Amino acid sequence: MKFSIYNSLTNQQESFTPIEKGVVKMYSCGPTVYDFAHIGNFRSFLFGDLMRRSLELGGFAVQHVMNITDVGHMVEGEDDKMLAAASRVKENKKSGRVPEGAIQDPNDPYQIADFYTNAFLEDSRKLAYKVAYDYPASVPKATDYIPGMIEMIEVLIQRGHAYVSSDGVVYFSVESFPEYGSLSGNTMDKLQSGAGGRVSDTNQSMKKHPADFLLWKPDQKHIMKWESPWGVGYPGWHIECSVMAKAVLGQSRIDIHTGGEDLIFPHHECEIAQSCGCSGESHFANYWVHARFLFVEGEKMSKSKGNFFTARDVLEGKVTGKPVHPAVLRFELIKSHYRSNMNFTVKGLTDSAATITKLIDFRAMLESKTGGKSAEVDLSHPVLGDFSNALADDLNIAGALGVMHNWLKTDHRDAELSLAILKKMNSVLSIAPINEGTDGVEVAADGGQHGDGDAQAEDWRQQMVDARKNKDFATSDQMRDKLVDAGYDVQIGKTDVTIKKKLA
Ligand code: AMP
Ligand code: ZN
Repeated sequence: MKFSIYNSLTNQQESFTPIEKGVVKMYSCGPTVYDFAHIGNFRSFLFGDLMRRSLELGGFAVQHVMNITDVGHMVEGEDDKMLAAASRVKENKKSGRVPEGAIQDPNDPYQIADFYTNAFLEDSRKLAYKVAYDYPASVPKATDYIPGMIEMIEVLIQRGHAYVSSDGVVYFSVESFPEYGSLSGNTMDKLQSGAGGRVSDTNQSMKKHPADFLLWKPDQKHIMKWESPWGVGYPGWHIECSVMAKAVLGQSRIDIHTGGEDLIFPHHECEIAQSCGCSGESHFANYWVHARFLFVEGEKMSKSKGNFFTARDVLEGKVTGKPVHPAVLRFELIKSHYRSNMNFTVKGLTDSAATITKLIDFRAMLESKTGGKSAEVDLSHPVLGDFSNALADDLNIAGALGVMHNWLKTDHRDAELSLAILKKMNSVLSIAPINEGTDGVEVAADGGQHGDGDAQAEDWRQQMVDARKNKDFATSDQMRDKLVDAGYDVQIGKTDVTIKKKLA
């Protein structure tokens, strides 16, 4: 299948050819785990997921790796960063987002990282982010790769790409790598200081060039520290991705690297310099793909504006006042093209809920007609051909959804065939939940939010039916109010009452 991707390296859409026929090695920069992941983070992660699943639909075997940054952010060398992380933990405990018993010592970065790693994996699985099901094999943690980082820094020093400054700090020398700046367009002379990013890097006078970035910082006093040939200390932020991509994907040059647009510089520029500096290859990733930022109701997300939403806040109903089905949030986050800014709105969420409800009902109808049996189908079917061709065109999601919506309107007399087509579409979209995913990950699990409530709702519904039979309208009204409060649509018929859970 012909796939094309917009490559940030060349600023154009290119036809996609993997290094090894039929196999795709893909790396996505993952979360820093000092707080819950927000919907912007998930926009970036789920675009990577959409790319992976689209490639899989096209027949590629995709090896997808995403890291967990459990060291970079807390090693800024500034105590206030640690204090900030600790105070956020305290805030989150106060609001009940972090249970009292968790993170017993909010000043312990390992406890903080551990807690938020688990929270991230939980959120990711609800949102059907496929790579998260493959933890830890495909989701490496930076703190597990410190020896690999030390080794890569040693190679960089040997190859003349890195040096130890007079104060003992190890820097990458950007002048040793003339291609530095080619991804972001930041040519060397344009570059100001601070290109190292995130890590305390204040001692400019010790660097050969202001854009040189930190690889290792000796610091005996620091809270997260490891032995190294340059003294006890900690690594720079960028080195972790170069090391983990190579270690887990098993080669120095990979096919696709993804992340949010803010990572182009300095992070990805530095990753390229390190990986190519170490391997001698002309490329680290052949295709660099970046998602544009998510906005909320047209504005940048920020805590001070009160429009900063974590994924679990949305799912738990803290944003809209009622729980949101994970498939609804997933759909909302993937339905706009990754190269346009996405605007998250409550209205958008409601529209997404309508689509998901329709799909769930459609699926249920097909399953009841077929008893769950579906036909064999592949991309030679014109509907699936159009659907996959749209996705293969730089993830044209609007095109793919258009194909799906038009197809939904056709007649579905051959229910087994329609179920098969829906399942194939759902292997990419993962928004029409089913009881059991074909590979265990197709389904956007509802995380128990809806399942547990159902027995209770059924009980209220039955009480309502009984009360109405006895003309006890006060009890019937009481039960109806309970159902409505629990997020159900209640339809009263002549002899029966039907209820339906609203998805958002
Ligand atoms: P971080 O945890 O800050 O390292 O970010 C994890 C991922 O989320 C990175 O790929 C970022 O580029 C991405 N990201 C952060 N904020 C946003 C946003 N508002 N919209 C889209 N992606 C974002
Ligand atoms: Zn990275």
